[in-house]
Amino acid sequence: MPGLNRRQFAKLIGGTGIATATASMNSAGVLAQAAAPNVATGAKARIVVIGGGPGGGTLCHILRRSSPELDVTLIEIQKQYTTCFFSNLYLGGFRTLQSLTHDYTGLASIGVRIIHDRAVKVDTTGRKVELQGGSSVPYDRLVLSPGIDFKYNAIPGYSEAAETTMPHAYRGGAQSKLLGDQLAAMPDGGTVVLAPPPNPFRCPPGPYERACMIAHYLKTNKPKSKLVILDPKKAISKQGLFQQAFAEDYKGIVEFHLSNEIDNFALKRVDPATREIETMSGLKIKASVANIIPPQRAGAIAELAGCVEGDWCPINAENFASTKVPNVYVVGDASSAGDMPKSAFSANSQSKSVANDLESSLAGKPKYPARYRNTCWSMLGPANSVKIGSSYLAKDGKVTATAPFVSKPEDDAKTREKSYKESTGWYAGIVAEAFNKKVDQI
Ligand SMILES: Cc1cc2nc3c(=O)[nH]c(=O)nc-3n(C[C@H](O)[C@H](O)[C@H](O)COP(=O)(O)OP(=O)(O)OC[C@H]3O[C@@H](n4cnc5c(N)ncnc54)[C@H](O)[C@@H]3O)c2cc1C
Repeated sequence: MPGLNRRQFAKLIGGTGIATATASMNSAGVLAQAAAPNVATGAKARIVVIGGGPGGGTLCHILRRSSPELDVTLIEIQKQYTTCFFSNLYLGGFRTLQSLTHDYTGLASIGVRIIHDRAVKVDTTGRKVELQGGSSVPYDRLVLSPGIDFKYNAIPGYSEAAETTMPHAYRGGAQSKLLGDQLAAMPDGGTVVLAPPPNPFRCPPGPYERACMIAHYLKTNKPKSKLVILDPKKAISKQGLFQQAFAEDYKGIVEFHLSNEIDNFALKRVDPATREIETMSGLKIKASVANIIPPQRAGAIAELAGCVEGDWCPINAENFASTKVPNVYVVGDASSAGDMPKSAFSANSQSKSVANDLESSLAGKPKYPARYRNTCWSMLGPANSVKIGSSYLAKDGKVTATAPFVSKPEDDAKTREKSYKESTGWYAGIVAEAFNKKVDQI
């Protein structure tokens, strides 16, 4: 219904609620949403968002900017969010952690109510979120964007405590700093071990961009050192491009062990006290620095809310509504998003679809067909980046890639530099959207 203003829309719907009143399945197998205050009644519908990363932050920003008739609350544990995206560039010496750290004052300044607390329970019948601090927050619609948690015990010897000696650095901030500090303290001639997780996991090219950035740091600061990658997978994202960089730019530094029919480089056990690592195929290494990235699952609150099946949250491909719990949406890494990878770009794109769904159902805005996008850039060396991505549509109930693209190994230096500049523009853009904050494009 493009062109209708708020009053016209309220008249059109005859002053009745625009959402159905029960939480049952309709004939298409879609969970019906409960009634919520809307433009027709004049009361503000309460949207509560858990998680202020690129998924939750973007959603809060859009809703406050375009639908002041919605009441928007963000529940986020941390007062400052340090991005995982570009944290590899920190390890390579191309960014400071400070430049990757953002707070919530930008979102607060446009009227997002920010609660810095941990959500510990969701009462999906009474529609309220309970907080560690003891209070609870009622909602009409809840959006979960809690990111990932780790399956610490999946690797014998590893544990949550082990992340302080063998950092995964797969959460931004303290973990990235710890890995950076360990690399800085390592004597020249040391061995760094990087153990990527099995699929599916946050940022499929992330471990290999990291390998390039660590290798760049070693090449320029500690050239007698080496980096050994022990991968449980048989194939990886942008494989040809990364293998080209390892062979040409980081020859003699990177040793890349991808699993195959004979050798399985999944971890059999690790010892955080000695930093000894053993693979399933019997390779034993004593690491100077061990970057162990455990298998992953949806952030714990998604499980507590009843949204998880297996490790991730199934969603309706049209709008990222949970297929398990009414009145709840799941975006970002926690969702099971078909062909879309778990990335900040994806989380941001999915949030736009959720915003449209909320605004059309609760604020009288037009509803558009869901369209999603993703691009993941990876920095291989100075002004040298490659990319992979696609557009996506909801097709046969699944988020489906429609126009995939990937950089080519034969791309020239100019193309690689252009790709690097695109990535820095993207970083500035996503920070502006998720945190309502202007950052310089470096
Ligand atoms: C090394 C690395 C490099 C990456 N590079 C890129 C890249 O170049 N491009 C890209 O697009 N993506 C990249 N990513 C992936 C990207 O960081 C994630 O996909 C993205 O952050 C997911 O966003 P999200 O909103 O789903 O979750 P998150 O960003 O994890 O945000 C979740 C938030 O929820 C909060 N939270 C969790 N539980 C609760 C609770 N119970 N109560 C209150 N708050 C809670 C957390 O504190 C957190 O702030 C990279 C990731 C890594 C690790």
